[in-house]
Amino acid sequence: MPPITHPTDGEQYDVIYIGGGSGGSAGSRRAALHGAKAAIIEETGKLGGTCVNVGCVPKKIMWHAADLADKIRQAADGYHFDLPKDSAKFTWNTFKPQRDAYIRVLNGIYDSNITKEKVAYHEGHAKLTSPTSVKITKSDGSDYTIHGKHIVIATGGRPTKPSDDEIPGASLGIDSDGFFALEEQPKRVAVAGAGYIATELAGVLHTLGSETHIVIRGDSVLRTFDPALQEVLTPWMEHTGINIHKQSKIVKVEGVPGQLTITLDSGKTFEVEQLIWAIGRRPNTDDLGLEDVGVKVDHTGSVVVDEWQATNIPGIWSVGDVQGKALLTPVAIAAGRRLSNRLFGGPKFKNDKLDYENIPTVVFSHPPIGTVGLTEPQARKKYGDQVKVYKSSFRSLYFSMIPPEHKEPSMQKIIVVGEEERVVGVHIIGQGSDEMMQGFAVAVKMGAKKQDFDDTVAIHPTSAEELVTMR
Ligand code: FAD
Ligand code: NDP
Repeated sequence: MPPITHPTDGEQYDVIYIGGGSGGSAGSRRAALHGAKAAIIEETGKLGGTCVNVGCVPKKIMWHAADLADKIRQAADGYHFDLPKDSAKFTWNTFKPQRDAYIRVLNGIYDSNITKEKVAYHEGHAKLTSPTSVKITKSDGSDYTIHGKHIVIATGGRPTKPSDDEIPGASLGIDSDGFFALEEQPKRVAVAGAGYIATELAGVLHTLGSETHIVIRGDSVLRTFDPALQEVLTPWMEHTGINIHKQSKIVKVEGVPGQLTITLDSGKTFEVEQLIWAIGRRPNTDDLGLEDVGVKVDHTGSVVVDEWQATNIPGIWSVGDVQGKALLTPVAIAAGRRLSNRLFGGPKFKNDKLDYENIPTVVFSHPPIGTVGLTEPQARKKYGDQVKVYKSSFRSLYFSMIPPEHKEPSMQKIIVVGEEERVVGVHIIGQGSDEMMQGFAVAVKMGAKKQDFDDTVAIHPTSAEELVTMR
């Protein structure tokens, strides 16, 4: 259903979800499914939010393209496929429109899903005017107000970029949104940051053939992840030819987009066509009317919620990235659905809420990472010397046919606690780790012990079998 063209000023809803991304779409549909009169408000005119438009989906498609480039090279180098030279050459400028077209299809699917569930779709910028009222300003400047017994803030976040005052020329760089808008593949590119996005985008660009620099403040990427993952991935990225500028900060950017000179705090300079800032994200809580209504935000601007997704104002709730915890699509979806279950699903759902413990996650690096539970430092801090670690480092059978310098590493680590050896963390890197993690996350969530892993018969020959045969 397209957005409502002739909205009724003053219309009353059971629940209004502000934001048509992962959390808002899932939560409003679930509310409607339970029979509630639900509305969703989205300002961009495109449903699906960050994940669909400038996040998970186009990112994973680019990761698949990069993965294919690797496979094509490995087919020729190791598996004796007689491929013409340059078979792995990627044509970005024809692929990008195809990727964009797929995203438009997904936008349409989001539209038809909310139509099916009878969620009222309002297009415009939403601003709270009271704990039960939202003013919607349309792109032509006109506005109207709707009312909700419950209002859910699901406005997500956006990339952080330093100002030109902080770093002269910083605005010459783009961010992850700009990455997805690139019509041409940059021949030379710098990525600033060391988190998920920096690691993933640097990996994609390098694997597709761009000369790639990554500028990090510390000595490794993914510093919040288990150290064993950092120790495998960072040197491997360097080994494959990514220029990692460690202990470095960008202090100046000069030139014009397409021809930039980057200066680091060491005084070192280098030239790139594009600079991508990937130094974190901030919540979309500006101009939402939160201060007028008294909704509490923390020092980062994220909406403060309790374990039930409740803000300090009764009837106002928040889910997804804007509440600052576990910025992942399935988290936003699960929190939205569970909140709507609880509000409208009757007694069966009266205690439904999302448990933020043991959320599995994957970094689509090359090779990919999967992780669930505590890192070793977190486990040691919590459980002291009750912690025991099992670890295995190996090369997957796939790489047996590949020249030594291109054999990707695999590493798997299980962290257990106490005599019963309850598994509190699983951290894996290597081919297939992205697909391997989900099932092991179920086991950890169920409170599996190391013995349960050992009692599970291995599937051979796979990389996953290492996790159930580790000594
Ligand atoms: P969003 O999806 O951001 O939706 C919020 C919506 O609210 C937006 O559409 C916005 O336009 C709208 N909005 C904001 N303010 C207003 C307003 N005042 N009025 C009306 N509408 C408003 N997560 C994963 O799980 N796996 C991944 O592989 C992954 N990859 C990612 C890659 C990148 C490059 C990025 C940036 C993120 C990635 N994420 C990934 C994170 C994921 O995209 C987010 O966690 C998820 O989109 C959060 O959903 P949300 O509903 O909270 O917010
Ligand atoms: P992250 O929080 O993951 O990482 C940002 C990193 O940038 C920090 O860890 C920090 O690393 C570095 N940094 C912070 N400030 C600066 C600065 N001023 N200058 C230089 N470096 C800086 O943010 P991302 O933007 O990468 O991603 C946002 C979130 O989106 C993620 O946390 C994740 O939840 C989600 N996401 C999930 C994905 C997935 O599921 N695969 C993929 C992409 C995003 P250090 O301290 O080491 O310098």
